[in-house]
Amino acid sequence: MKHVFIIGNGISGITTARYIRKQNPDIKITVIGNETDYFYARTALMYLYMGHLQFEDTKPYEDGFWEKNRISLIKGDVVSLQAEDRKLFLADGRSVVFDQLVIASGSKPLMANWPGKTLDGIQGFYGMNDLALLEENTRNIRNAVVIGGGLIGIELAEMLHTRGIHITFLVRENRYMERILPPEESELVHQEIRRNGVRLQLNTEVKAFHGDGNGRVSMVETTTSEEIPTELACISIGVTPNIAWLNGSGINTNRGVLVDAHFKTNFPDIFAVGDCAEFQNPLPEQRPLEQLWYTGKMHGEVVGTVLGGGLATYQKGVFFNSAKFFDMEYQVYGDVTSDVPMGVQEIFWQHGHEHKSIRIRYNARSGSVIGFLVMGIRFRQQACQKWIKRQTPIEEVLRNLNMAFFDPEFFYTFGTEVREAYEAATGNPRAITTTLKRTFWPIFRPK
Ligand SMILES: Cc1cc2nc3c(=O)[nH]c(=O)nc-3n(C[C@H](O)[C@H](O)[C@H](O)COP(=O)(O)OP(=O)(O)OC[C@H]3O[C@@H](n4cnc5c(N)ncnc54)[C@H](O)[C@@H]3O)c2cc1C
Repeated sequence: MKHVFIIGNGISGITTARYIRKQNPDIKITVIGNETDYFYARTALMYLYMGHLQFEDTKPYEDGFWEKNRISLIKGDVVSLQAEDRKLFLADGRSVVFDQLVIASGSKPLMANWPGKTLDGIQGFYGMNDLALLEENTRNIRNAVVIGGGLIGIELAEMLHTRGIHITFLVRENRYMERILPPEESELVHQEIRRNGVRLQLNTEVKAFHGDGNGRVSMVETTTSEEIPTELACISIGVTPNIAWLNGSGINTNRGVLVDAHFKTNFPDIFAVGDCAEFQNPLPEQRPLEQLWYTGKMHGEVVGTVLGGGLATYQKGVFFNSAKFFDMEYQVYGDVTSDVPMGVQEIFWQHGHEHKSIRIRYNARSGSVIGFLVMGIRFRQQACQKWIKRQTPIEEVLRNLNMAFFDPEFFYTFGTEVREAYEAATGNPRAITTTLKRTFWPIFRPK
């Protein structure tokens, strides 16, 4: 019976293993991971630091699951691959031969070439080692600088804030998540960050790090000529596929491991999934790299099913993402980016004094809805995705918008206000976008 090796025990590697086993009871499966003995939810790292969860709570499966399902786990670091000979080499000197291989080695944090970047007290945040280092680096400190205005940067700001550390948050662009969020939503995030006492500096980049004479960071010098005294600098300027270990392997790579639509590399028995995979010919609307939890899971489901002998093709479906910016929830479904593209119309409603907004985009010609972006309110994923997938007319969506609110039984919903925003927008045929802001008190309705 064939032996499949999987490198990486993150969501995509582990899902691949589970789906092979679902299909086939006999195939030998071995997962090699260098981070933890058992799979855990990386997305919960911040809650470990904040003390909301213990490591045990982040493990989706009990430790006995792996033996019961005959999935062998090796804690080890794969340092090289000879694709032609189907051979893997581990840092401890071991080597193994595989019949089929799945590369699921994820991402690693990016670092820029700043002077002083190797000083102690400067770190990224991706895995368990970083969490341990952060614990050490934040012992008895009072000041920190977070660099990079993305999702992990704001998580870091929230984490450090819970320890009473004074934070300066440097964002290179002139607003938070400039390429992803429209200006109104960025502004809501700015307000939420500042409301939590974080000093937000926009249009600001690092020029250099300076040390205290003992090899530890003591100051961040910025491109705006500011000198910020600090005991810690957290870098969160993005991630990149973790594939340097594949140099010389024969596997074709670009930013990630190049794969076809079936996740196959240039070797027919070697596949790549999750953050480290890059589609060689992405479909229109598809990004070459998909670095999200749920896409990694879907990649693993497809490859696992196929390697187990079943049939599956990858259909990513409607894009979605969600996060929390301090206390403000953020959800996006479908196609809502920073700019309004040609041929697209939108309505936008914002609460008068609370951090809540709803943005809905639709095709100007057909009227079918293409995306939702909500801040401070939770929408039902199923409803939004169904409407987008079925190309539901905007009027129908608005008529039924209350179905999208997560808990309409408990809270007054804002459907009427959003419908009014739409009517105001369509009342003016020249309007591409309309912003209707009104002061409004949500009514709490007890059960
Ligand atoms: C702090 C944080 C918060 C996040 N929050 C969200 C979120 O809210 N929503 C969302 O969609 N996404 C989120 N992400 C992104 C999401 O976690 C990733 O998209 C997802 O984990 C990718 O899964 P993966 O299995 O491809 O890779 P990974 O999770 O990176 O797993 C790969 C594993 O392989 C191991 N490995 C790598 N190379 C080797 C080697 N040579 N030998 C052995 N083992 C190796 C790595 O150590 C790692 O354990 C977050 C990421 C971080 C860092």
